[in-house]
Amino acid sequence: MDLSTQHVLVTGGAGFVGSHLVDRLLADGATVTVVDNLSSGSRDRIADDADFVEADLTDPDALDGVLDGVDLVFHLAASKLVDTDRPHGQFEDNTQMTLNLLEAMADADVTKIAYTSSSTVYGEAPRPTPEDFAPLEPISAYGASKLADEGLLSARAHSHDLTVWNFRFANVVGPGLRGAVIPDFIEKLIEDPESLTILGNGRQEKSYLHITDCVDAMLHIVATADDAMNTYNLGTRTTTSVDRIAAIVADEMDLDPDYEYTGGDRGWTGDVPKMRLSIEKLAALGWEPSLSSDEAVRQSTRELLDELR
Ligand code: NAD
Repeated sequence: MDLSTQHVLVTGGAGFVGSHLVDRLLADGATVTVVDNLSSGSRDRIADDADFVEADLTDPDALDGVLDGVDLVFHLAASKLVDTDRPHGQFEDNTQMTLNLLEAMADADVTKIAYTSSSTVYGEAPRPTPEDFAPLEPISAYGASKLADEGLLSARAHSHDLTVWNFRFANVVGPGLRGAVIPDFIEKLIEDPESLTILGNGRQEKSYLHITDCVDAMLHIVATADDAMNTYNLGTRTTTSVDRIAAIVADEMDLDPDYEYTGGDRGWTGDVPKMRLSIEKLAALGWEPSLSSDEAVRQSTRELLDELR
């Protein structure tokens, strides 16, 4: 697919991944429209050359008229936060958004969608986890909403004229990232350079993918995979432990803090403590990450220090 001739709609384009994707799409010559309710994203992250529609996708009418002339949708909008007052709110919001979008796409005859799923659909699975691993048993409402969305997309792909590119991301890191382990450690160490509290026992171990590689892989898959439902893991071949992240952040800040652990094998309820995705299916399409997990963490630490210090 030659993106320079395409009109691409990006939901969640004011967020971390979305804003980088929009920049790359514009650089490749695409026409870009962003739809976002700015609940966690921000207006000033969206490039001036993109059209912006502020709308809440849980509203079934949010996309009235917005999909006219659109060739391809990247659906990134999602709530990643747990609302303790609405235990099922995250699941309801995320699946409602995807349902609304699919209905609006069908009405507007838009037949291509790229979707950002997550490693969390696998739950606590053997590693490296391939795309055909089963059973899929997520352990969080967020993972459950991603798996439910995948089901909705698969049902449409196999019964209607719809092509789906479904990306199961490892942890994505880079400039603009907030509310995740690297910016969290940086902010804590700016506040108190002498000590760092680490959630869990520090031995949680996951695969980190730099945002530049993530966006490049998404576009590579859209350009090369042509089944009705194209599900691909996006990650690195290596992992980085939380202790190692702390050591990299401290090293980049030239600090030697004392570490305190909250204990237990995971950071929070619903956290999958160890994750490494098989990326053989993606490699077979001729794509490899340019940075290992440790390199992605170190580069992101430097980029985030420039923003946060
Ligand atoms: P983000 O929170 O930075 O971006 C999500 C965007 O969606 C935000 O701009 C937010 O304002 C918008 N949004 C939320 N609810 C909305 C609604 N009701 N209507 C319209 N817009 C709404 O998150 P991100 O890290 O950029 O993640 C992007 C996508 O990738 C998400 O679907 C996420 O689940 C998925 N993902 C991310 C990672 C990661 O490591 N960052 C890993 C796995 C999957």
